[in-house]
Amino acid sequence: MNVLCVWPNYYSKYPPLGLLKLSAYHRSRGDIVQLVRPPEVPRFVPDVIYVTSLFTYAWEKVKEAVNFYRRLFPGKPVVLGGIYASLMPEHAEEEIKPDYLWRGVIPELDEVLPDYSLVPWWDGSLVFTSRGCIRRCPFCAVPKLEPEFTYRPSVTDLICERYSQVVFWDNNFLASPYHMEILSELADIKKRRRFFRIDFNQGLDARLVTPENAKAIASLRMQVVRLAYDSSSQREPLKRAIDMLVEAGVNRKNFLVYVMFNYEDTPDDFLRKVQDLLSWGVAVYPMRYQPTDALKKDSYVAPGWTPELLEMVADARRVLGVNGAWPPYEALKRKFLDASDLEDALKLRSPKEAVAT
Ligand code: SF4
Repeated sequence: MNVLCVWPNYYSKYPPLGLLKLSAYHRSRGDIVQLVRPPEVPRFVPDVIYVTSLFTYAWEKVKEAVNFYRRLFPGKPVVLGGIYASLMPEHAEEEIKPDYLWRGVIPELDEVLPDYSLVPWWDGSLVFTSRGCIRRCPFCAVPKLEPEFTYRPSVTDLICERYSQVVFWDNNFLASPYHMEILSELADIKKRRRFFRIDFNQGLDARLVTPENAKAIASLRMQVVRLAYDSSSQREPLKRAIDMLVEAGVNRKNFLVYVMFNYEDTPDDFLRKVQDLLSWGVAVYPMRYQPTDALKKDSYVAPGWTPELLEMVADARRVLGVNGAWPPYEALKRKFLDASDLEDALKLRSPKEAVAT
């Protein structure tokens, strides 16, 4: 059987894990698999076409990909899966009309090792040691995509020796009852491979940081320790978590804290969160809230916000930021701490003014 895996042309830093797992499954049955992005033409006529999807607002790229391969291979069944298909199945049925639509994770595939041979440019193990989350944050897609919290006791069998990094996609790694065991496995790898990189890509839940796991996390010497500051109620647990991690040996310059805005917060709340983080000496990564069913990126404007102010945040990330983040540099810190309101903090000086000072 010839299996075509289609990765639509939306932006993604990471390979499409679901398709890599599907490929491993089909190859184990003796099938031939190829991964393509439009307009690449496969070297065979497929018997089945699997198409993945990502953010809901990237749905048009998915439609383009499906239409492109349908035109090339009329009558061949198209199976659509991934995040958009799972979150908005009715929209996908209506707009894309796949022959079959798969919602959520495919349980039979979850333990299958991905077929990384499809992405020779990639250098990392992509792993889940847990699915779902113990929390139910109303703005988050995880409770809809993975309603059950499940976990596995180990990560070593998911890590490829030839790769220089492991990327965890667990939504809430510290909620796993096995997280200390897994941190200890990672510490063993780190002892053997000093430059091996570990990334808890979806962030760690500050409320679950303890002196014990902080010590284990610090021992991994991660380049980036990701945390989140979604609502003002998280201020104290977040501050405590940062202090515990610093006490355990994490350098403040290695933190990256995601700060959601344009949700239920006001611009003043956002400014206060940014001020907190910069004064604690950690970098801020502003994250604009997008509804889980947004069909167009950056189209949602929350009450209390205006398109102009949201644009100012985007500009300030581009101009003042480093890769979109605001590091706690002295000048930046002063700019935010001395501001009378968010608009004042985000004002960019004209080149003339900048030269004059
Ligand atoms: S803790 Fe994180 S992953 Fe869990 S529901 Fe909240 S935002 Fe989503």
